[in-house]
Amino acid sequence: MATSPLASQPGLFETGAGDGLPAPVSRHPRANRETRLGGTLVAYEFQRGQRRTIGLSVGPQGLSVRAPRWTPLAEVDALVQRKADWVLAKLRQLRQASRLAPAAIEWREGAVIPYLGRSLALALAPEHRFDGAGAALDGERLLLALARDAGPDQLRDTAQAWLMREARRIFLQRLDHFAPRLGVRYRSLKLSSAATRWGSASADGGIRLNWRLVHLSLEMIDYVVAHELSHLREMNHSPDFWGVVASVLPDYDLRRQALRRVRLAP
Ligand SMILES: [Zn+2]
Repeated sequence: MATSPLASQPGLFETGAGDGLPAPVSRHPRANRETRLGGTLVAYEFQRGQRRTIGLSVGPQGLSVRAPRWTPLAEVDALVQRKADWVLAKLRQLRQASRLAPAAIEWREGAVIPYLGRSLALALAPEHRFDGAGAALDGERLLLALARDAGPDQLRDTAQAWLMREARRIFLQRLDHFAPRLGVRYRSLKLSSAATRWGSASADGGIRLNWRLVHLSLEMIDYVVAHELSHLREMNHSPDFWGVVASVLPDYDLRRQALRRVRLAP
């Protein structure tokens, strides 16, 4: 059989590194059917309504299929299979747009790095020192105080040192924004470069956040910050915990889904 109803929604989400599965998976947050298109498991949203034809659409959340009230499921399945190439191409496009690929950064002048969901072009500025900081933002460029003949390792080290300083500055700002709203105090912030986690919280108030979050939009950063701070009230993923998260981020679930599609940098 090509499709089967989903038994249940996937389990609780850790602030982890995406699906971690070897085979590509696309899962719509409101998925209620699933199918296999080529090597990809596609869990999609299926709705019936007053319409005359079967309609497929692919958005940031995944595949949605709408069908007339009485169309047999076999006919729906057959159409989805016929459109497999189109669906997979769309999903691939959207995945690439939302995925981090720092491994693919070529560390040279003009290379683009993601920063707060924007793109910064690396530019060499050998005449500058930037007060010893080594780098400075200039519009959509990151100026690096490096010689013209600097090698890729120097570019990477200088850019990453700047990104980590920015990460600390921004994370502290967002922690200080959310902590009073959640009625919690955090004791310390440590940056991590864990391979599989965006963040964690310990009972003594220590917060760890992955510095690579600084590549992502503020919406994603805020979700992880609010998630970890909420653990200082609920050390679990119970409905009460999600209620605490929702009290400061009512749309947390959309952010959580979006973060899931981001591949953590190696
Ligand atoms: Zn958690």
